Amino acid sequence: MSSNIIAIVGRPNVGKSTLFNRLIGQRKAIMDNVSGVTRDRSYGHGDWTGKYYTVIDTGGYVHGSDDIFEEEINKQVNLAIQEADVILFMVDVEAGVTALDEEFANVLRRTDKPIYVVANKADTNARGYQMGEFYALGIGEEIFPISSQNGSGTGELLDEVVKHFKDEGVEDPDAGIPKIAVLGRPNAGKSSFVNLLLGEERNIVTDQAGTTRDAIHSRYNAYGKEFIIVDTAGLRRKSKVSEDIEFYSVMRAIRALEEADVCIVMLDATRGIEAQDVNIIALAEKNRKGIVILVNKWDLVEKETNTTKEFEEEILERIAPIKYVPVVFTSVLTKQRIHKAVEKAMEVYDNKTRKIPTSKLNDLILPEIERYPPPAIKGKFVKIKYITQLPTHNPTFAFFCNLPQYIKEPYMRYLENSMRKHFDFEGVPIKLIFRKK
Ligand code: GDP
Ligand code: GDP
Repeated sequence: MSSNIIAIVGRPNVGKSTLFNRLIGQRKAIMDNVSGVTRDRSYGHGDWTGKYYTVIDTGGYVHGSDDIFEEEINKQVNLAIQEADVILFMVDVEAGVTALDEEFANVLRRTDKPIYVVANKADTNARGYQMGEFYALGIGEEIFPISSQNGSGTGELLDEVVKHFKDEGVEDPDAGIPKIAVLGRPNAGKSSFVNLLLGEERNIVTDQAGTTRDAIHSRYNAYGKEFIIVDTAGLRRKSKVSEDIEFYSVMRAIRALEEADVCIVMLDATRGIEAQDVNIIALAEKNRKGIVILVNKWDLVEKETNTTKEFEEEILERIAPIKYVPVVFTSVLTKQRIHKAVEKAMEVYDNKTRKIPTSKLNDLILPEIERYPPPAIKGKFVKIKYITQLPTHNPTFAFFCNLPQYIKEPYMRYLENSMRKHFDFEGVPIKLIFRKK
């Protein structure tokens, strides 16, 4: 089953993001409520008459840059042409045909993918009749008058669009594909890293001189692994002058973290681990995300025999009591251990999604408990009878025992260490819970 992709293109202000929000409907609204912030997203999922699709607001990917329009149009349209099964070319009936619309039409003529001209802001029938002038653009299978604002016409449009889908699609095309967030302080090398991975990736946007490719939630295929880098838009926005860049970049990082399965936390080797890095790692652990630390710019560090070891020890000391996090020493500049970094992130993902059969768990952990049983409290013996992994999203293990309230912190740590000794949970927070049986 494939993912059916609808791309929306058009000049600024015609209503692309309004339609985008309508097409992804409820799901977006739900997400917004959870996080309490409006998301500036350009990629979402929806469904119509039992068919699932992914919708990309290509304008959302490239707007806000100070590029000249021509380049902007090329980027948007190329993204749409490469990714989409169906292209919605949006115009504004209120404004009529503009020179920019014509430029879009000219570039869109390059593709033979199905294109619909969507005449937006046709809020009333009278306005709908004005759509006729868009035939002059000479493009598209058909023109649909719609109102993204009140929803009229969108059903008819979708009825046509879904006819081009190869199959009914999948509800979440990203399911099962590791989502990675690249986090860290400004200047650590995050965007250089992401760009290096992009170099390995199947092209999303054709490489044109001078275009930086914005990676928002895009799928990568680097070093033979498929994964998604979640929302690196914060990196892109950095160049935009704004009074609250700092606030937004922190917000974005937190949201990327929440969406990710694995957080790559990138440090600058010349600065060592800083308070903000420790905070991010603590937040990742709290949200039970996989974690990999990259010590980047390793090329700039003068090395002696034990430099790596000492560096790693210092990091682990700072993030204590967390000690399961892998540390990889990279140089994005000289491409050192980039492959290893990606591989580690994938390993951590595998660790995070690992399901251990109950029999194996009991065979290996019960003997550890016998060897070092929980200490008796107030003359009462605590007996752990069996262990099972819960069917939760993150590794969680239930220990069934007679007196769960008597299992104290030091013993929990012993159990966690035993778990980690027998099973590979490198980079992954695990949770042990104690239930009465
Ligand atoms: P984008 O720049 O193409 O993404 O456009 P937006 O979605 O941000 O919309 C631009 C403006 O047009 C906003 O003020 C919207 O409220 C307005 N707008 C969008 N759709 C409609 C519509 O169907 N009817 C009317 N009257 N206004 C709309
Ligand atoms: P970001 O703010 O975390 O996205 O960092 P950037 O990717 O913009 O990188 C900041 C600066 O560090 C740029 O000048 C990069 O060229 C440089 N840089 C990135 N990675 C390395 C590296 O491994 N070694 C060295 N020497 N410089 C690097």
